[in-house]
Amino acid sequence: MKNAAKELFRELPSVDEISRMPELSGLAAEHGTVALADAARGVLSRLRNEIASGLLDSKTLPVALEGLVEAIEQELRQALAYSLRGVINATGVVLHTNLGRAPLSESGLKHIAETARQYSNLEFEVDAGQRGKRDVHVARLFRKLLSEVAKPGELSTIVVNNNAAAVLLALNTLAEGGEVIVSRGELVEIGGSFRIPDVMGKSGAILWEVGTTNRTRISDYDKAVNERTRLLLRVHRSNFEISGFTEQPSISELRDLAQRRGLPLMEDLGSGALVDLAAFGIRGEPSVFDSLRAGVDIVTYSGDKLLGGPQSGLISGRTELVTRMRSNSLFRALRVDKLTYAALEATLLAYAKQDYDSVPVLKMMCLTKNEISQRAERVAQQAQSATLKIELVDGESVIGGGAAPSCVLPTRLLAVSCGRLSADALAAHLRRSDPPIIARVEEGRVLLDLRTVFAEQDPSIVAALAAIRS
Ligand SMILES: *Cc1c(COP(=O)(O)O)cnc(C)c1O
Repeated sequence: MKNAAKELFRELPSVDEISRMPELSGLAAEHGTVALADAARGVLSRLRNEIASGLLDSKTLPVALEGLVEAIEQELRQALAYSLRGVINATGVVLHTNLGRAPLSESGLKHIAETARQYSNLEFEVDAGQRGKRDVHVARLFRKLLSEVAKPGELSTIVVNNNAAAVLLALNTLAEGGEVIVSRGELVEIGGSFRIPDVMGKSGAILWEVGTTNRTRISDYDKAVNERTRLLLRVHRSNFEISGFTEQPSISELRDLAQRRGLPLMEDLGSGALVDLAAFGIRGEPSVFDSLRAGVDIVTYSGDKLLGGPQSGLISGRTELVTRMRSNSLFRALRVDKLTYAALEATLLAYAKQDYDSVPVLKMMCLTKNEISQRAERVAQQAQSATLKIELVDGESVIGGGAAPSCVLPTRLLAVSCGRLSADALAAHLRRSDPPIIARVEEGRVLLDLRTVFAEQDPSIVAALAAIRS
């Protein structure tokens, strides 16, 4: 066996021989000889492993060698392809954290490209010819958007890497070494990695839990206040809802207590809508304005949840407190780059113009069941085949991303099944299309929700479904 393997190893061409193969000269010219040699080494090492493990013998090796050129082409294509790539989100989860949350607006993409391609006034005051601050690029728009809840100068906003960073910076600035009072019912874990107690620990603040999981009264907070207390914290229950026998003080009760005790009140909103979402059919989800209007001193929220912008964390609140956060050295470590400012500025400008249709997640949330149904019917018709069973069924889209846990949007789903394939196998098929299509599997069927699919991607879905036919 060992000797037979040795014989077979001798049949393998060298990297050098492969690099000189005329069939591969085109690839060498296009991608360079270094990349080609790497691909050849990869394929040869795979073949050697297959010989050593007995997968290839004297009969099958010649067949494998006949496919050598294709194997190298494929190896090269894979090596040079991006790992991060676009997918079609047919799950109906608008803010899908695993799928990159909010797709950006066209104006956001354009502003990113313009800002990335050349030098910019990121930290430079062009008129004065002197050093400036990067915050100014979104400060103007936040001032305008927040002007309905405060007088000029009362409120400020700063931008950090994500909402987790916003919470960390806010807690560290306002409560390091002191106590922060939070209801037990709000000690949430979001997306498996954001836990308030952990972030609190890193911020240097001490968590003081009050109440029980389902009931916390304002008197529980009041009793917990002592000379070490620095902050009252309300955390939005982003991805779960406690119903039944529950009690939670209102924001105005918390504000009154905070004022009476001379403490700031902070709310970690998480999703942070900058419009009244009732207009989008989403009820009970407080906007950033609602919180500030109710007297919350500091609100933290994500730029890529309901706001529909780039990954970022926003801290809006009383100028005096926000200024302290800006001068905290942690802010320097958590700040965002020029591309995030560009995307955020473009997104905020859409809000300032009330051009909500240009913000993809807002547009998706606005789609009616009827509009989705019409597209789904067209896809079903075009993808009709003998092997697939495609039905339209009523269903629900969700906001996701830790926003509006109890809120669903009515939709019409494509329910696909295939006689010879299980639903999981069918879903795997769709994930292997180019671009990959990500669907839901429920009750033995694959469900596709076109709410989160861009209309121009519908033909890709038709093509992927049609390909299952063969
Ligand atoms: C999503 C969320 C976070 C974490 O925000 P990231 O932007 O993912 O860092 C924190 N708190 C709440 C309430 C959230 O919903």
